[in-house]
Amino acid sequence: MTRSTLTVPVDPCDDLAALCERLKLPEVGRLAAARAQQAAAEQWTYSQYLIDVFRAEVAARQARYVVSHTQMSHLPFHKTLDQYDFTFQPSLDERQVRQLLTLQWVDAAENLIVLGPPGVGKTHLVVAMAGQAIVERISVYFITIQDLVADLRKAWDENRFATRLGMYVRPRLLCIDEVGYLPLSSLEANLFFRLVAARYERGSLALTSNKGFVDWGQVFGDPVLATAILDRLVHHSTILNIRGDSYRLREKRTAGLLGEAAARPSLEASLPGGTVPS
Ligand code: ADP
Ligand code: MG
Repeated sequence: MTRSTLTVPVDPCDDLAALCERLKLPEVGRLAAARAQQAAAEQWTYSQYLIDVFRAEVAARQARYVVSHTQMSHLPFHKTLDQYDFTFQPSLDERQVRQLLTLQWVDAAENLIVLGPPGVGKTHLVVAMAGQAIVERISVYFITIQDLVADLRKAWDENRFATRLGMYVRPRLLCIDEVGYLPLSSLEANLFFRLVAARYERGSLALTSNKGFVDWGQVFGDPVLATAILDRLVHHSTILNIRGDSYRLREKRTAGLLGEAAARPSLEASLPGGTVPS
């Protein structure tokens, strides 16, 4: 067999745009010509030019990844830690929270529990951690405990609980918001326990609650079950206990529209049903 018969035929193609399309490098294709002109004018080396266009391709891919995975994670809004005003919540240790943003706790499959009254930024902090996790390509899913248990209960009724549970075990970071705003039924509390047990030491939970641990017996309708849940949640965890005023009501209060009491943690108890979805 001659050498030429072994050669894989290649389409002769000298069109850079077509080559980039074939190689799935749209950003390189978009920038190549303009950057080549700049490279010539500024006397870049060949490798500088290649690094420049490939870096743009990597950045564009990362941006697309973050957008699509942010959508898939169901985060309720976009907030970063830099948008969090620590001076407004002196009970929080800023250095500790910034350390949490390194996400070493997610690498270690540990949990984050954020406690505090409505409006102090519990969801904000969890969303900031989740956003950073997405940037670092860690799988994230965000859900309120109400939606979670409703979904698990439906799956239970339809005999597909194990499959559905698997879906909530899979993300490396599962954020569960608003624990404690509404009490759970006995079945719901049991299904939630199964989820916590299934994720224990396997994947991280970031959980927010307006109720202190002493009240979790009521939330889960059963002190024994609450203890079993807490035991697994807390074992490897960081607990942030925010003991401040609602940020939402801050401006209204400073404008004199609310009395002091209205902006205090007891607010939730004063509203119908004692619940404040946040
Ligand atoms: P919670 O979950 O504790 O009820 P949220 O995280 O929903 O509170 O916060 C309510 C609103 O106030 C959000 O828009 C959030 O970004 C903002 N917020 C809360 N605390 C702060 C803070 N310390 N600095 C900046 N924004 C804050
Ligand atoms: Mg909230």
